[in-house]
Amino acid sequence: MLTIGLTGGIGSGKSEVADILRELGAQVIDADLVGHETYRRGEPAWDQVVEAFGSGVVGQDGEIDRGRLGRIVFGDPDSLKRLTDIVWPRIREGLEKRITRERDNGDTTVLVVEAAVLFEAGWDRLFDEIWVVTAPEADVLERLERQRNQKPAQTRARLRAQMTNEEREQRADVTVRNDEDRAALAATVRQLWTDRVPNRTQGRHDG
Ligand code: ATP
Repeated sequence: MLTIGLTGGIGSGKSEVADILRELGAQVIDADLVGHETYRRGEPAWDQVVEAFGSGVVGQDGEIDRGRLGRIVFGDPDSLKRLTDIVWPRIREGLEKRITRERDNGDTTVLVVEAAVLFEAGWDRLFDEIWVVTAPEADVLERLERQRNQKPAQTRARLRAQMTNEEREQRADVTVRNDEDRAALAATVRQLWTDRVPNRTQGRHDG
């Protein structure tokens, strides 16, 4: 089984690439969803988050309200660090378990984990290779405004708060450039799959 960590900045096209890889036959895990599982009500991280940020982050249903939590930590590095210190180690554990399970069940040839914060959280060692998706800032601003109704100023602020594309590219094995239309992106990913995946799936962790 080949494990691929898929990362990139906000709106770069990670989910689009993950969808294309899924269509090509990869099993895809979203690290955000694993993250949400870690602080479900009843999990130890739920208590830690409430202890750190107060009961105001608990919604009517007893679950952590991610919108409220996000508003507290965005733009406040200390709070953000407090949160990531709680959840990142647990997400890592969750990912390790999933990778082991997929490897043991033997049916999965390619496992992709989509994780925006892969490098920041230090999860790179979990994967055989890292693919980074990059898109020019102008494209990201335009796509997120058109498709998520997100103001360019807000997108820009978020991009400034993140690692740069250059930093990510330096640490990645593969760069997927998403600077054309979706058809071009699909063609790029298909080519990478043909070039890299068959050779790499044989013998690394199999058998
Ligand atoms: P985030 O981490 O912010 O969720 P992401 O990296 O997963 O973002 P996507 O959701 O895949 O990015 O892409 C962002 C938006 O841009 C989506 O609405 C997506 O459909 C659109 N998009 C991605 N690639 C292209 C493209 N090549 N042409 C047009 N729209 C695109």
